[in-house]
Amino acid sequence: MQEAIISEEQWLRVQELRKHKRRPTKTGRTSLFSGLLYCYDCKSKMHFVAAKSMKRKQEHFRCSQYKSGRGKCAMHYIRDIVLERLVLEAVSDLSDFVRCYEPVFLYLLAKKNNAMRQKEYQQLQKAVENGTKRIAEIDRLIEKVFEQNAGGILSDERFAKMLQSYEKEQKALTQEVEENLQTLQNAEQRVVDLRLVLRTLREMTDIKELTPTLVNSLIERIEVHNSDKSNGHSHVKVDIYFTAVGMIDIPTEKEILATMEEIRNNPQDFKFVA
Ligand SMILES: [Zn+2]
Repeated sequence: MQEAIISEEQWLRVQELRKHKRRPTKTGRTSLFSGLLYCYDCKSKMHFVAAKSMKRKQEHFRCSQYKSGRGKCAMHYIRDIVLERLVLEAVSDLSDFVRCYEPVFLYLLAKKNNAMRQKEYQQLQKAVENGTKRIAEIDRLIEKVFEQNAGGILSDERFAKMLQSYEKEQKALTQEVEENLQTLQNAEQRVVDLRLVLRTLREMTDIKELTPTLVNSLIERIEVHNSDKSNGHSHVKVDIYFTAVGMIDIPTEKEILATMEEIRNNPQDFKFVA
């Protein structure tokens, strides 16, 4: 396991900051999900609508582009208490799944995210190391040709050519090293996020109610579809994106068994960074 770029404490602080970003409405009421809700169709933020005259069960979200019917988007209406129920259900389901079948969960996640394997990770690290060494070496080589040129050992023409070639190589390498470092950092960030999400999910048992901390650490984003009234009563679909996990369909018993078989048959595929 590599050293994490950010510590768990820092991560928790980020979650804390995210929480405070939530501004209460004029009435002082706030929703657990403020700032996390987006319209599925236009990807705009959803507004929380609450007023003193409203009962708790009437508080709702709507697409910020709806503008009472004068905007560009449909309402995408969802009541806050409905949302609470849906998210609590999704969180409980995921937590049950992780507690019972963590290896299956990790395997499916790695497959879905095309996670970086340990070997790829090490190759990238090696590339960064070698690249950094070569960049320093080129610095010394450049210094040397300067000296040789000044001492008359190297003609001006030859010197110019060599210098140009060294600088070109160094520029390309610097860019490559930066890109590789970014890839490594992203992978490490995902690992830290995932580790904390796993810890939270493992420790949860039989939760009755969502808390701001739970929502902030587990939920990255929720997209709300426009309600479908085709079968008489309105039904709203929400896409819940979990931190470091994304959207996840909990597999059926049959799918879980098939995946366990897959893990047994391909144990080498199971060695990803997580
Ligand atoms: Zn919209």
